[in-house]
Amino acid sequence: MTITRFAPSPTGYLHLGHAHSALIAEAAAREAGGTFLLRIEDIDGTRCRPEFIAGIAEDLAWLGLDWPRPVRRQSQHMDDYRAALDRLASLGLVYPCFCTRQQIAAEIAASGHAPHGPDGPVYPGTCRHLDRSAAAGRIAGGDPHAWRLDVAAARAATGGALTWIDETAGVQRAEPEVFGDVVLARKETPASYHLAVTVDDALQGVSLVTRGVDLFPATHVHRLLQALLDLPVPRYRHHRLLTDETGRRYAKRDRSLTLRTLREAGRTPAEVRAMAGFGQK
Ligand code: GLU
Repeated sequence: MTITRFAPSPTGYLHLGHAHSALIAEAAAREAGGTFLLRIEDIDGTRCRPEFIAGIAEDLAWLGLDWPRPVRRQSQHMDDYRAALDRLASLGLVYPCFCTRQQIAAEIAASGHAPHGPDGPVYPGTCRHLDRSAAAGRIAGGDPHAWRLDVAAARAATGGALTWIDETAGVQRAEPEVFGDVVLARKETPASYHLAVTVDDALQGVSLVTRGVDLFPATHVHRLLQALLDLPVPRYRHHRLLTDETGRRYAKRDRSLTLRTLREAGRTPAEVRAMAGFGQK
């Protein structure tokens, strides 16, 4: 049974790029006689807003999409992510990191040869070797901290090569170390994107993950987390990002091309689907 999902973060109204992504997920499920899910990725309480959650459902329904209810909202399932983090902690694969962004930037500048990963400079590993009891003391004292994955230890724990299949790019060998020791949780948000998305895709039985090619590198980390947490490995289809006539990708800042604005300007769902790459113009 094919299960796909569209998993937006409610930090703005949906634009044509989102419509493209949602329609790909929905078509993949429909063509396979499967199920298309909507999931709201609202772990970042500082950026997500309720009106955007309502707006997402309204815009997708207007486009003609349907999905089972209730919709999973990540903010309501923090216990699931915490359990996954606890499991990684019990395996000794995460460590607390007290570095501020400024401290990390200063350390990288001072070292002069920091490797770059897909998301920018890789964390230099400052807190990896902190004395455990000192770290526990700082946590008990309320010192703000994140939890990072010790990627080298995690790779060693999983043994041989980890692979995953991208329907467009073929068989991939996971290289999670290119991101360095990624953050899996923060004090104010007890789950990061990487952790929450991996746990949710497994809990919801998602068998085909469709998402933009900008998230292709993240799959290397997700594959490692699947191995560590004994989760099933879905297939992936990373799709191209829709661009406007000038070749620029749609982004939340482009208010003029939100589905809402197009609708208010009198465009029909069929026209907007066509603009998003589905159907006749
Ligand atoms: N929530 C992510 C976003 O809005 C997408 C997550 C995913 O599809 O894996 O960019």
